[in-house]
Amino acid sequence: MTRRLWWLALLWCQFLTTGAQAGTIRLAPGQDSYNLNASADVLEDASRRLRIENVVAGGAANAFKPPQQGLSSFGFTDSAFWLRFRIDNPEPAARRMLLVLRTNWLDTVQVFSPDAWGLYTEQRLGDTLPFRERPYAMPQLVVDLQVAPGISTYYLRLTSTQAFMTPIELWEPESFHQNDRLWSAYYGMVYGILLVMVLYNGFIWAAMRDRNYFFYCVYLIAFFMMNFSYSGFAYQYLWPESPRWSNWSHTHWIFLFLAMAIVFSMHFLESRTRLPRMHRLLQAYLGVMLVSWIGVTAAGDTVAYNAAPVYFVFGCTPLILAAGVAAWFNGYRAARFFVLASMATLVGSFFTALTASGFLPYTFANFHAAEFGIMADVVLLSLALADRIRTLREQREAAELREIEQRLHTAAVLEQSNEELERTVLERTAELARARDEAERFARIDALTSVANRRYFEEVAVQEFARARRYDQPLSVMVMDIDLFKQINDTHGHAAGDIVIQTVAAVARESVRDADFVARIGGEEFCILLPDIHLEQAMVTAERLRERIARCTLEHGGHPLVCTASFGVSELAGTDLSFGALLQRADQAMYAAKQAGRNRVMAGSPAGAAPQAPHGAGEG
Ligand code: GH3
Ligand code: MG
Ligand code: MG
Repeated sequence: MTRRLWWLALLWCQFLTTGAQAGTIRLAPGQDSYNLNASADVLEDASRRLRIENVVAGGAANAFKPPQQGLSSFGFTDSAFWLRFRIDNPEPAARRMLLVLRTNWLDTVQVFSPDAWGLYTEQRLGDTLPFRERPYAMPQLVVDLQVAPGISTYYLRLTSTQAFMTPIELWEPESFHQNDRLWSAYYGMVYGILLVMVLYNGFIWAAMRDRNYFFYCVYLIAFFMMNFSYSGFAYQYLWPESPRWSNWSHTHWIFLFLAMAIVFSMHFLESRTRLPRMHRLLQAYLGVMLVSWIGVTAAGDTVAYNAAPVYFVFGCTPLILAAGVAAWFNGYRAARFFVLASMATLVGSFFTALTASGFLPYTFANFHAAEFGIMADVVLLSLALADRIRTLREQREAAELREIEQRLHTAAVLEQSNEELERTVLERTAELARARDEAERFARIDALTSVANRRYFEEVAVQEFARARRYDQPLSVMVMDIDLFKQINDTHGHAAGDIVIQTVAAVARESVRDADFVARIGGEEFCILLPDIHLEQAMVTAERLRERIARCTLEHGGHPLVCTASFGVSELAGTDLSFGALLQRADQAMYAAKQAGRNRVMAGSPAGAAPQAPHGAGEG
């Protein structure tokens, strides 16, 4: 590989330096090749009518000019060019040499060699002839020269509708074939790299479906076709029987390459969104180019047809460079590599186009700049695409991270709201329980006195009655009614009456056991259940309560409130069918106490008997 590069470097230096030779070419034993451009006189035949006889005869109409400082290009022209050069063979014998025209696209090349009698024989080359008619099956134009001893004058007649540029060399045959192997290796390397890159990017495209890779593939294929075409390989290998197509296709490949360069650039740089103005400019250039492409194809002017795409290279290069730099300055990271990469090819093609159209001298470096460019391009573009993959991965990772954070956040919010919900549910449940308890309490408890109400009393009374019955235990009940309560109300007001009721209830609660059950069953009428208590003991309790109430001095609005109550007490008897019977006897006893003068306790007699009054104020 390094040996190959070294050879290429040598070749390059050789072309840069051989311009100094002038005049007759003297074949030297040690020299392998000679640059004819530096030695050949040139005659432009704009009419294309001159024939070999006219040229050999000489005269004012066909005066040859000295060589143009080794310049091998005439630009784009319709003219025919005649070249005249002398070869001095110092050896005594004739020597076979090879005449090599590096540019394969020249339309016609007529080589006129002198024979022993001074007459000229003609050999024809050029890409208007079928490939198989070439004496050497090579992309470049090669023909044998039998150089007689002494000085011989040769003539070449050239026509070309393509870029009129050609290095013309004279080679010692053996060395030429060696040198050609070097060239084959060089092109093998260029096309090998291209093929690998096309496949590589094609695979990435197939896998990732990123259109950038597709466009880059097409761009590389277009470059390959363009280069394969103007290097002469396309004619040799793809369409050797179609000289017309071979001649015509050069233009299409160059246009295709430029179009793909623009399309790929627009896609890669995302110019539509990132650089809208530059995008319109690129679109406009592409549009003008496509119109010109169709225009020159239809118009039929062969010189314009061949010159147009080459001149479009000059506009394309700065434009795409500008777009790349603009994207780069816009903060698009991948644009750095793009600028370097595509610039390599475009600037390379720029130099090749300058060389082909005669603005730069033909040198190995100038003419093959496009190939060096594409090799740098593929390397740098791989970096760009790798960078793009990295950017995409970073973006994806950032997005994933955001998503995870979002999810965590959502989960946290959800958990928090779950907790809140749970808490709320618990609170509500507690509130409900409280409300229910409250409601239950309201349903059972008397609001004024906080003792059980009538409903609750009836529930409990039924249960206590059943229990006492089942276990054959005593059960007593006491009914209590405040005396002359109406008067308290009437004298001191309803509020004072309420206070009296509350006080009596409180005193009743304090005066009985915990097991006893106090309830307010009417306005100022109370009932107390006394489980496990016989009548005598219940009477004692009633008496104690009566005394306490009577002793209790209340005050309202500065007036003392005195109140007493009457009591009826009864005990469960074996004949009682229900609690009602028991209660009725207590009630009757209480009424009896009222009749007897109030503020006293009377015991309910067994069913049918009159109530007795063992205790009471009335007696005292
Ligand atoms: P007696 O000794 O015969 O029982 O006479 P009394 O005045 O107590 O007669 P009665 O039982 O007929 O009167 C009850 C009065 O109690 C009638 C009603 O206005 C009053 N009262 C009933 N409930 C309430 C209450 O919740 N608050 C107040 N302040 N008065 C009530
Ligand atoms: Mg009363
Ligand atoms: Mg009453």
